[in-house]
Amino acid sequence: MGCRAKAAANELLRVVAGSDAEGRPALVPDPDRRAPGRGAHVHPTPECWQLAVRRRAFPRALRSGEALGTALVEELLREAPAAHAPPSGSPQHRPGTGAHSS
Ligand SMILES: [Zn+2]
Repeated sequence: MGCRAKAAANELLRVVAGSDAEGRPALVPDPDRRAPGRGAHVHPTPECWQLAVRRRAFPRALRSGEALGTALVEELLREAPAAHAPPSGSPQHRPGTGAHSS
């Protein structure tokens, strides 16, 4: 799915058809791969995700005739630490923000 690059299954995020907090049909991330039914796999990156969404890969892969909300997965991707992010807890010096500590 998505970029179609080869990847080990454990590097991919499983996504299943479910419903959001308001009960509307939505794509639901399934990091533990335990949800029943069909699942689709994408790299947990915004790029791969957007590609799959744009190709309408999810309704096809999940055999869903309904439009599926994407907010739940997008939220997860936003929170997921980027591969190149520094370890959390490291001091953050951000030159150029105009902040003065004094
Ligand atoms: Zn990908």
